[in-house]
Amino acid sequence: MEVRLARKHGFCFGVEQAIELAEQTLRDNAPGRVAALGPVIHNPEVVRRLEQEGLNQSARLDNLEAGTTVLIRSHGVGPEIYEMARRRGINLVDATCRLVKRAQTVVRQLHEEGYQVIMIGDANHPEVKGVIGYAPNVIVVEREEDLADKIPRRARLGIVAQTTHAPEHVARMIGAIAALPFQELKVVNTLCLEVVRRQEAAVELAREVDVMFVLGGLSSANTCELARLCQGEGVRTYHLETWADFKPAMVAGCKVAGITAGASTPDDTITEFAANLRLHEPLNQPSEEDTRH
Ligand code: SF4
Repeated sequence: MEVRLARKHGFCFGVEQAIELAEQTLRDNAPGRVAALGPVIHNPEVVRRLEQEGLNQSARLDNLEAGTTVLIRSHGVGPEIYEMARRRGINLVDATCRLVKRAQTVVRQLHEEGYQVIMIGDANHPEVKGVIGYAPNVIVVEREEDLADKIPRRARLGIVAQTTHAPEHVARMIGAIAALPFQELKVVNTLCLEVVRRQEAAVELAREVDVMFVLGGLSSANTCELARLCQGEGVRTYHLETWADFKPAMVAGCKVAGITAGASTPDDTITEFAANLRLHEPLNQPSEEDTRH
């Protein structure tokens, strides 16, 4: 079948840097002496490969021996982790993406300027958990329904957003915050352009095809966002991790398929998927069950 790739997709510079640093650190250290405080990126294939190369990705700082080397992921961590590592004699290799570092700095500066910091983001995402550590009492808001209860009235508000959020969502949230009584509102754009470009390209492609495949880890926030945006265009959309998840019924009745991939999806996964899909001859008609997303 005809397969088209989104003009921007796959690895971003922050993820590339994190993987390169992880591999370099594994080469430079004895086996069993390198750890990360969680999966290096939200992609199970890459996580498995790094594990096979000897990287423990479920470490806790308080369980590690002095002299162990710990890789900080591209999502970054709060300042308390740097402090605890220093006290315990842990060596840190910092792969925090420079855009996440900037968000951390902005949060600290907004607090120092006297603003009540508001972060638009998912409170459970590791990036958000780290960023809010750079000022006291940062308020995290995810949906418009959160705002009435969480935003203090007549305050000086300083707003940032999780780097991977869609600009439309952030704009809606800022509009809703501005509709509440406030003394001053300062918004600093912390969105990642790499993510925004992938989102624009995915939406553009979703308008041209019969079915969209969004490749990437099921727990990857930016990949989930791509799938949500494609679905929003009304096109049949599947969020899959690899070709192993593909089922012929997914393309039944389709002539043209589109592929995009999150910022943590390796090129090999995308190339293999596209090559296999090109060789695939779709069935004529989808059944009702087949078209479930
Ligand atoms: S998606 Fe953007 S913010 Fe996140 S790691 Fe990649 S470049 Fe950095």
